[in-house]
Amino acid sequence: MSSGLDEDLNCAVCCETYEETKYKPVLLPQCGHSFCCPCLLQLEVTETKFLCPTCRTPHLGHSVSKMPINYALLSISKKMLIQEQKDDFFKLSKHIKQQLKEEQESLSQRLNAIATEIMDLYEQSKILKEFINEVEENEKIARKSQDVLTLKSSLCNITHILTKFNEVTKDMSESAQSFQSTITQHIGKSDTSWPLCRIVPGCINAWPKVPWKDFMNHLPSAQLLLSPENPTVFFDLAVGEISLGRIEIQLWGHMSRAQHFLALCLGTLGPTYKDSSFDRVEKGHNRNRYLIGGYYNTNNGTTSAQGMMEDLEWGGKYDLPTRKGLVAGWSFEAPGLEATFGIVCGETFKDSLFCPFGEVSSGMNLLDNISLRECVTDVKITDCGLITLVNMV
Ligand SMILES: [Zn+2]
Ligand SMILES: [Zn+2]
Repeated sequence: MSSGLDEDLNCAVCCETYEETKYKPVLLPQCGHSFCCPCLLQLEVTETKFLCPTCRTPHLGHSVSKMPINYALLSISKKMLIQEQKDDFFKLSKHIKQQLKEEQESLSQRLNAIATEIMDLYEQSKILKEFINEVEENEKIARKSQDVLTLKSSLCNITHILTKFNEVTKDMSESAQSFQSTITQHIGKSDTSWPLCRIVPGCINAWPKVPWKDFMNHLPSAQLLLSPENPTVFFDLAVGEISLGRIEIQLWGHMSRAQHFLALCLGTLGPTYKDSSFDRVEKGHNRNRYLIGGYYNTNNGTTSAQGMMEDLEWGGKYDLPTRKGLVAGWSFEAPGLEATFGIVCGETFKDSLFCPFGEVSSGMNLLDNISLRECVTDVKITDCGLITLVNMV
Protein backbone atom coordinates (compact mmCIF):
# COMPACT_ATOMS: atom_id res chain seq x y z
CA MET A 1 0.00 0.00 0.00
CA SER A 2 1.29 3.46 -0.92
CA SER A 3 -1.30 6.00 0.31
CA GLY A 4 -1.19 7.51 3.82
CA LEU A 5 -4.12 5.40 4.83
CA ASP A 6 -2.25 2.39 3.63
CA GLU A 7 0.76 3.33 5.86
CA ASP A 8 -1.59 3.59 8.84
CA LEU A 9 -2.75 0.07 8.21
CA ASN A 10 0.84 -1.26 8.42
CA CYS A 11 2.84 -1.87 11.51
CA ALA A 12 5.42 0.97 11.67
CA VAL A 13 8.06 -1.51 12.97
CA CYS A 14 7.78 -4.48 10.66
CA CYS A 15 5.62 -2.87 7.96
CA GLU A 16 3.26 -5.91 7.94
CA THR A 17 -0.37 -5.16 7.24
CA TYR A 18 -2.69 -5.69 10.10
CA GLU A 19 -5.03 -8.67 10.03
CA GLU A 20 -6.93 -10.62 12.60
CA THR A 21 -4.76 -13.72 13.04
CA LYS A 22 -0.97 -13.15 13.22
CA TYR A 23 -0.58 -9.36 12.84
CA LYS A 24 -3.36 -8.07 15.08
CA PRO A 25 -3.07 -4.26 15.81
CA VAL A 26 -2.46 -3.73 19.52
CA LEU A 27 -3.28 -0.25 20.97
CA LEU A 28 -0.71 1.25 23.42
CA PRO A 29 -2.99 2.71 26.14
CA GLN A 30 -0.59 5.54 27.25
CA CYS A 31 -0.05 7.14 23.81
CA GLY A 32 -2.71 5.63 21.53
CA HIS A 33 -0.26 4.39 18.87
CA SER A 34 -0.80 0.89 17.47
CA PHE A 35 1.70 -1.81 16.40
CA CYS A 36 1.41 -5.41 15.51
CA CYS A 37 1.23 -7.95 18.31
CA PRO A 38 4.47 -9.83 17.44
CA CYS A 39 6.53 -6.56 17.36
CA LEU A 40 5.20 -5.44 20.78
CA LEU A 41 5.74 -8.91 22.32
CA GLN A 42 9.34 -8.79 21.11
CA LEU A 43 9.80 -5.27 22.59
CA GLU A 44 8.32 -6.47 25.88
CA VAL A 45 10.73 -9.42 26.03
CA THR A 46 13.96 -7.74 24.75
CA GLU A 47 13.75 -4.16 26.05
CA THR A 48 14.26 -3.28 29.67
CA LYS A 49 12.17 -0.18 29.22
CA PHE A 50 9.02 -0.69 27.09
CA LEU A 51 8.77 2.58 25.08
CA CYS A 52 6.41 3.41 22.20
CA PRO A 53 8.51 2.96 19.02
CA THR A 54 6.93 6.10 17.61
CA CYS A 55 6.64 8.60 20.45
CA ARG A 56 8.85 6.97 23.06
CA THR A 57 6.11 7.10 25.74
CA PRO A 58 6.95 4.52 28.45
CA HIS A 59 4.48 1.75 29.02
CA LEU A 60 5.78 0.18 32.21
CA GLY A 61 3.57 -2.17 34.17
CA HIS A 62 1.44 -3.07 31.11
CA SER A 63 1.53 -6.57 29.70
CA VAL A 64 1.12 -6.73 25.89
CA SER A 65 -1.28 -9.63 26.23
CA LYS A 66 -3.57 -7.41 28.31
CA MET A 67 -3.44 -4.44 25.94
CA PRO A 68 -6.61 -3.84 23.81
CA ILE A 69 -6.89 -4.82 20.16
CA ASN A 70 -7.39 -1.80 17.89
CA TYR A 71 -10.59 -3.10 16.26
CA ALA A 72 -11.23 0.05 14.30
CA LEU A 73 -7.88 -0.30 12.60
CA LEU A 74 -8.43 -4.02 12.08
CA SER A 75 -11.82 -3.35 10.53
CA ILE A 76 -10.39 -0.77 8.14
CA SER A 77 -7.52 -3.12 7.30
CA LYS A 78 -9.97 -5.94 6.53
CA LYS A 79 -12.01 -3.63 4.29
CA MET A 80 -8.85 -2.45 2.58
CA LEU A 81 -7.79 -6.07 2.08
CA ILE A 82 -11.13 -6.94 0.60
CA GLN A 83 -10.90 -3.85 -1.61
CA GLU A 84 -7.42 -4.89 -2.61
CA GLN A 85 -8.63 -8.41 -3.42
CA LYS A 86 -11.49 -6.87 -5.31
CA ASP A 87 -9.04 -4.74 -7.28
CA ASP A 88 -6.88 -7.79 -7.97
CA PHE A 89 -9.91 -9.77 -8.98
CA PHE A 90 -11.07 -6.93 -11.18
CA LYS A 91 -7.68 -6.73 -12.85
CA LEU A 92 -7.60 -10.51 -13.26
CA SER A 93 -11.13 -10.62 -14.59
CA LYS A 94 -10.30 -7.76 -16.94
CA HIS A 95 -7.29 -9.71 -18.14
CA ILE A 96 -9.33 -12.87 -18.50
CA LYS A 97 -12.04 -10.93 -20.28
CA GLN A 98 -9.43 -9.56 -22.62
CA GLN A 99 -8.04 -13.03 -23.25
CA LEU A 100 -11.53 -14.41 -23.74
CA LYS A 101 -12.32 -11.63 -26.11
CA GLU A 102 -9.20 -12.34 -28.12
CA GLU A 103 -10.02 -16.04 -28.06
CA GLN A 104 -13.57 -15.24 -29.08
CA GLU A 105 -12.34 -13.12 -31.96
CA SER A 106 -10.01 -15.89 -33.06
CA LEU A 107 -12.79 -18.45 -32.81
CA SER A 108 -15.12 -16.11 -34.57
CA GLN A 109 -12.63 -15.73 -37.40
CA ARG A 110 -12.21 -19.51 -37.61
CA LEU A 111 -15.97 -19.93 -37.53
CA ASN A 112 -16.29 -17.42 -40.32
CA ALA A 113 -13.67 -19.28 -42.31
CA ILE A 114 -15.41 -22.61 -41.68
CA ALA A 115 -18.77 -21.07 -42.53
CA THR A 116 -17.29 -19.81 -45.79
CA GLU A 117 -15.94 -23.29 -46.50
CA ILE A 118 -19.33 -24.81 -45.66
CA MET A 119 -21.01 -22.32 -47.98
CA ASP A 120 -18.54 -23.26 -50.69
CA LEU A 121 -19.18 -26.95 -50.08
CA TYR A 122 -22.91 -26.32 -50.12
CA GLU A 123 -22.57 -24.53 -53.46
CA GLN A 124 -20.49 -27.42 -54.78
CA SER A 125 -23.00 -29.93 -53.45
CA LYS A 126 -25.73 -28.05 -55.28
CA ILE A 127 -23.73 -28.36 -58.48
CA LEU A 128 -23.16 -32.05 -57.74
CA LYS A 129 -26.84 -32.53 -57.03
CA GLU A 130 -27.69 -30.93 -60.35
CA PHE A 131 -25.11 -33.14 -62.02
CA ILE A 132 -26.60 -36.23 -60.35
CA ASN A 133 -30.08 -35.19 -61.49
CA GLU A 134 -28.74 -34.75 -64.98
CA VAL A 135 -27.12 -38.21 -64.91
CA GLU A 136 -30.35 -39.74 -63.61
CA GLU A 137 -32.31 -38.03 -66.38
CA ASN A 138 -29.84 -39.34 -68.93
CA GLU A 139 -30.13 -42.83 -67.45
CA LYS A 140 -33.91 -42.64 -67.76
CA ILE A 141 -33.59 -41.50 -71.34
CA ALA A 142 -31.07 -44.26 -72.03
CA ARG A 143 -33.41 -46.85 -70.53
CA LYS A 144 -36.28 -45.55 -72.58
CA SER A 145 -34.13 -45.57 -75.72
CA GLN A 146 -33.17 -49.16 -74.93
CA ASP A 147 -36.86 -50.02 -74.49
CA VAL A 148 -37.64 -48.34 -77.78
CA LEU A 149 -34.81 -50.24 -79.50
CA THR A 150 -36.00 -53.56 -78.02
CA LEU A 151 -39.56 -52.77 -79.05
CA LYS A 152 -38.41 -51.80 -82.52
CA SER A 153 -36.42 -55.02 -82.84
CA SER A 154 -39.45 -57.04 -81.66
CA LEU A 155 -41.65 -55.23 -84.17
CA CYS A 156 -39.12 -55.99 -86.93
CA ASN A 157 -39.14 -59.66 -85.93
CA ILE A 158 -42.93 -59.76 -85.86
CA THR A 159 -43.13 -58.06 -89.26
CA HIS A 160 -40.58 -60.53 -90.62
CA ILE A 161 -42.52 -63.48 -89.23
CA LEU A 162 -45.81 -62.10 -90.62
CA THR A 163 -44.23 -61.64 -94.05
CA LYS A 164 -42.90 -65.21 -93.97
CA PHE A 165 -46.29 -66.45 -92.78
CA ASN A 166 -48.00 -64.66 -95.66
CA GLU A 167 -45.55 -66.14 -98.17
CA VAL A 168 -45.97 -69.64 -96.76
CA THR A 169 -49.76 -69.47 -96.58
CA LYS A 170 -49.87 -68.10 -100.13
CA ASP A 171 -47.69 -70.99 -101.35
CA MET A 172 -49.76 -73.44 -99.36
CA SER A 173 -52.99 -72.04 -100.74
CA GLU A 174 -51.74 -72.31 -104.32
CA SER A 175 -50.37 -75.80 -103.70
CA ALA A 176 -53.62 -76.88 -102.10
CA GLN A 177 -55.63 -75.69 -105.09
CA SER A 178 -53.37 -77.58 -107.45
CA PHE A 179 -53.52 -80.69 -105.27
CA GLN A 180 -57.29 -80.50 -105.04
CA SER A 181 -57.58 -80.51 -108.83
CA THR A 182 -55.23 -83.56 -108.95
CA ILE A 183 -57.39 -85.37 -106.40
CA THR A 184 -60.53 -84.48 -108.33
CA GLN A 185 -59.00 -85.89 -111.51
CA HIS A 186 -58.02 -89.14 -109.78
CA ILE A 187 -61.38 -89.59 -108.14
CA GLY A 188 -63.07 -88.77 -111.41
CA LYS A 189 -61.06 -91.47 -113.27
CA SER A 190 -61.39 -94.21 -110.67
CA ASP A 191 -64.48 -96.24 -109.98
CA THR A 192 -63.44 -97.13 -106.49
CA SER A 193 -62.95 -94.76 -103.59
CA TRP A 194 -59.38 -94.31 -102.32
CA PRO A 195 -58.36 -96.91 -99.79
CA LEU A 196 -56.90 -96.03 -96.41
CA CYS A 197 -53.47 -94.56 -96.57
CA ARG A 198 -50.90 -93.17 -94.21
CA ILE A 199 -50.38 -89.46 -93.88
CA VAL A 200 -48.39 -88.19 -90.96
CA PRO A 201 -47.75 -84.63 -89.82
CA GLY A 202 -44.28 -83.35 -90.54
CA CYS A 203 -43.04 -82.90 -87.00
CA ILE A 204 -42.11 -86.12 -85.27
CA ASN A 205 -42.79 -89.84 -85.44
CA ALA A 206 -44.99 -89.74 -82.38
CA TRP A 207 -47.85 -87.88 -84.06
CA PRO A 208 -50.91 -90.00 -84.67
CA LYS A 209 -51.35 -91.31 -88.19
CA VAL A 210 -54.45 -90.13 -89.96
CA PRO A 211 -56.42 -92.48 -92.17
CA TRP A 212 -57.18 -91.19 -95.64
CA LYS A 213 -60.90 -91.39 -94.92
CA ASP A 214 -60.48 -88.91 -92.06
CA PHE A 215 -58.23 -86.81 -94.20
CA MET A 216 -60.93 -86.57 -96.84
CA ASN A 217 -63.40 -85.49 -94.16
CA HIS A 218 -61.06 -82.62 -93.31
CA LEU A 219 -61.17 -81.16 -96.80
CA PRO A 220 -60.94 -78.37 -97.76
CA SER A 221 -58.97 -77.17 -94.69
CA ALA A 222 -56.60 -80.14 -95.03
CA GLN A 223 -55.73 -79.07 -98.59
CA LEU A 224 -53.45 -76.46 -97.08
CA LEU A 225 -51.35 -79.15 -95.47
CA LEU A 226 -50.00 -80.82 -98.58
CA SER A 227 -47.19 -79.97 -100.94
CA PRO A 228 -48.18 -81.58 -104.26
CA GLU A 229 -45.34 -79.98 -106.26
CA ASN A 230 -42.68 -81.65 -104.12
CA PRO A 231 -44.40 -84.13 -101.84
CA THR A 232 -42.14 -85.65 -99.22
CA VAL A 233 -42.64 -89.31 -98.38
CA PHE A 234 -41.07 -91.37 -95.64
CA PHE A 235 -39.92 -94.93 -95.03
CA ASP A 236 -39.62 -96.22 -91.48
CA LEU A 237 -36.96 -98.93 -91.60
CA ALA A 238 -36.29 -101.90 -89.31
CA VAL A 239 -34.49 -105.22 -89.16
CA GLY A 240 -36.74 -107.64 -87.32
CA GLU A 241 -37.88 -105.89 -84.18
CA ILE A 242 -35.07 -103.36 -84.26
CA SER A 243 -36.05 -99.96 -85.64
CA LEU A 244 -33.34 -98.35 -87.79
CA GLY A 245 -35.02 -94.96 -88.15
CA ARG A 246 -36.77 -92.93 -90.80
CA ILE A 247 -35.67 -91.71 -94.18
CA GLU A 248 -37.43 -89.05 -96.23
CA ILE A 249 -37.56 -88.63 -99.99
CA GLN A 250 -38.68 -85.46 -101.70
CA LEU A 251 -40.44 -86.37 -104.94
CA TRP A 252 -40.45 -84.38 -108.14
CA GLY A 253 -44.22 -84.11 -108.23
CA HIS A 254 -44.53 -83.10 -111.89
CA MET A 255 -43.38 -86.61 -113.00
CA SER A 256 -45.73 -89.57 -113.43
CA ARG A 257 -43.08 -91.81 -111.90
CA ALA A 258 -43.04 -89.65 -108.77
CA GLN A 259 -46.87 -89.80 -108.54
CA HIS A 260 -46.64 -93.58 -109.05
CA PHE A 261 -44.10 -93.83 -106.20
CA LEU A 262 -46.29 -91.59 -104.04
CA ALA A 263 -49.31 -93.80 -104.71
CA LEU A 264 -47.27 -96.84 -103.65
CA CYS A 265 -46.28 -95.05 -100.45
CA LEU A 266 -49.87 -94.05 -99.72
CA GLY A 267 -51.56 -97.19 -101.01
CA THR A 268 -53.99 -95.08 -102.99
CA LEU A 269 -54.08 -97.60 -105.84
CA GLY A 270 -54.15 -100.70 -103.66
CA PRO A 271 -50.72 -102.11 -102.81
CA THR A 272 -48.08 -100.19 -100.83
CA TYR A 273 -44.39 -100.40 -100.10
CA LYS A 274 -45.34 -100.90 -96.45
CA ASP A 275 -43.91 -104.24 -95.19
CA SER A 276 -41.78 -104.63 -98.31
CA SER A 277 -38.00 -105.14 -98.10
CA PHE A 278 -35.04 -103.90 -100.04
CA ASP A 279 -34.04 -106.38 -102.69
CA ARG A 280 -30.31 -105.97 -103.36
CA VAL A 281 -27.35 -103.63 -103.73
CA GLU A 282 -26.10 -103.14 -107.27
CA LYS A 283 -22.63 -101.94 -108.23
CA GLY A 284 -22.71 -99.80 -111.36
CA HIS A 285 -20.18 -99.74 -114.19
CA ASN A 286 -18.28 -96.95 -112.52
CA ARG A 287 -18.23 -98.41 -108.99
CA ASN A 288 -21.37 -96.50 -108.01
CA ARG A 289 -23.56 -98.20 -105.38
CA TYR A 290 -27.36 -98.43 -105.69
CA LEU A 291 -29.77 -99.72 -103.07
CA ILE A 292 -32.64 -101.43 -104.92
CA GLY A 293 -36.19 -101.91 -103.66
CA GLY A 294 -39.80 -101.63 -104.77
CA TYR A 295 -41.12 -105.22 -104.64
CA TYR A 296 -44.39 -104.76 -102.82
CA ASN A 297 -46.56 -107.46 -101.25
CA THR A 298 -49.64 -108.66 -103.09
CA ASN A 299 -52.88 -109.98 -101.74
CA ASN A 300 -51.94 -113.60 -102.49
CA GLY A 301 -48.76 -113.45 -100.41
CA THR A 302 -46.23 -113.02 -103.23
CA THR A 303 -44.22 -109.95 -104.14
CA SER A 304 -44.58 -107.91 -107.29
CA ALA A 305 -43.07 -104.87 -108.96
CA GLN A 306 -45.89 -104.46 -111.46
CA GLY A 307 -46.49 -100.84 -112.40
CA MET A 308 -49.92 -99.33 -111.81
CA MET A 309 -49.77 -96.23 -114.00
CA GLU A 310 -49.35 -95.81 -117.71
CA ASP A 311 -46.81 -93.58 -119.40
CA LEU A 312 -44.07 -93.70 -116.76
CA GLU A 313 -41.07 -91.68 -117.93
CA TRP A 314 -37.82 -93.34 -119.01
CA GLY A 315 -34.48 -92.14 -120.44
CA GLY A 316 -34.03 -89.42 -123.02
CA LYS A 317 -34.67 -86.03 -121.55
CA TYR A 318 -35.17 -87.73 -118.13
CA ASP A 319 -31.60 -88.99 -118.18
CA LEU A 320 -29.49 -87.26 -115.44
CA PRO A 321 -25.93 -87.64 -114.12
CA THR A 322 -25.60 -89.88 -111.07
CA ARG A 323 -25.71 -87.97 -107.81
CA LYS A 324 -25.75 -89.25 -104.28
CA GLY A 325 -29.28 -89.46 -102.84
CA LEU A 326 -31.12 -89.53 -106.16
CA VAL A 327 -34.02 -92.01 -106.35
CA ALA A 328 -34.51 -93.39 -109.85
CA GLY A 329 -36.69 -95.89 -111.69
CA TRP A 330 -34.89 -99.27 -112.01
CA SER A 331 -37.06 -101.22 -114.47
CA PHE A 332 -34.87 -100.73 -117.53
CA GLU A 333 -38.17 -100.96 -119.43
CA ALA A 334 -38.60 -104.60 -118.42
CA PRO A 335 -42.35 -105.29 -118.12
CA GLY A 336 -43.48 -106.00 -114.57
CA LEU A 337 -40.61 -104.17 -112.90
CA GLU A 338 -41.98 -100.62 -113.13
CA ALA A 339 -42.30 -100.26 -109.34
CA THR A 340 -38.62 -100.96 -108.66
CA PHE A 341 -36.41 -98.07 -107.66
CA GLY A 342 -32.74 -97.49 -106.98
CA ILE A 343 -31.23 -95.06 -104.47
CA VAL A 344 -27.72 -93.75 -105.12
CA CYS A 345 -25.55 -94.46 -102.03
CA GLY A 346 -21.92 -93.91 -101.03
CA GLU A 347 -19.33 -92.14 -103.09
CA THR A 348 -20.45 -91.34 -106.65
CA PHE A 349 -18.50 -91.57 -109.88
CA LYS A 350 -19.33 -90.35 -113.35
CA ASP A 351 -22.40 -92.22 -114.60
CA SER A 352 -25.99 -91.49 -115.45
CA LEU A 353 -29.47 -92.52 -114.33
CA PHE A 354 -32.30 -93.19 -116.79
CA CYS A 355 -35.03 -91.67 -114.76
CA PRO A 356 -34.53 -90.10 -111.36
CA PHE A 357 -37.78 -88.81 -109.89
CA GLY A 358 -36.84 -87.70 -106.39
CA GLU A 359 -34.05 -87.24 -103.88
CA VAL A 360 -33.35 -88.35 -100.33
CA SER A 361 -33.87 -85.33 -98.08
CA SER A 362 -33.24 -86.99 -94.74
CA GLY A 363 -31.57 -90.19 -93.49
CA MET A 364 -28.88 -90.53 -96.18
CA ASN A 365 -26.35 -91.87 -93.65
CA LEU A 366 -28.76 -94.67 -92.71
CA LEU A 367 -29.16 -95.63 -96.40
CA ASP A 368 -25.36 -95.53 -96.87
CA ASN A 369 -24.94 -97.94 -93.96
CA ILE A 370 -27.67 -100.24 -95.25
CA SER A 371 -26.09 -100.27 -98.72
CA LEU A 372 -22.85 -101.59 -97.14
CA ARG A 373 -24.57 -104.65 -95.63
CA GLU A 374 -23.90 -108.04 -97.21
CA CYS A 375 -27.62 -108.73 -97.26
CA VAL A 376 -30.35 -106.08 -97.44
CA THR A 377 -33.43 -108.26 -97.80
CA ASP A 378 -33.95 -108.28 -94.04
CA VAL A 379 -34.24 -104.47 -94.03
CA LYS A 380 -37.97 -103.88 -94.05
CA ILE A 381 -40.09 -100.78 -94.69
CA THR A 382 -42.30 -101.04 -91.60
CA ASP A 383 -44.28 -97.98 -92.55
CA CYS A 384 -44.43 -95.41 -95.31
CA GLY A 385 -46.55 -92.44 -96.26
CA LEU A 386 -46.75 -88.76 -96.98
CA ILE A 387 -45.41 -86.02 -94.74
CA THR A 388 -47.72 -83.02 -94.48
CA LEU A 389 -46.38 -79.51 -94.23
CA VAL A 390 -47.81 -78.91 -90.81
CA ASN A 391 -49.49 -80.74 -88.02
CA MET A 392 -53.00 -81.76 -89.12
CA VAL A 393 -54.55 -82.07 -85.69
ZN1 LIG B 1 5.16 -4.88 13.79
ZN1 LIG C 1 3.20 6.57 21.09
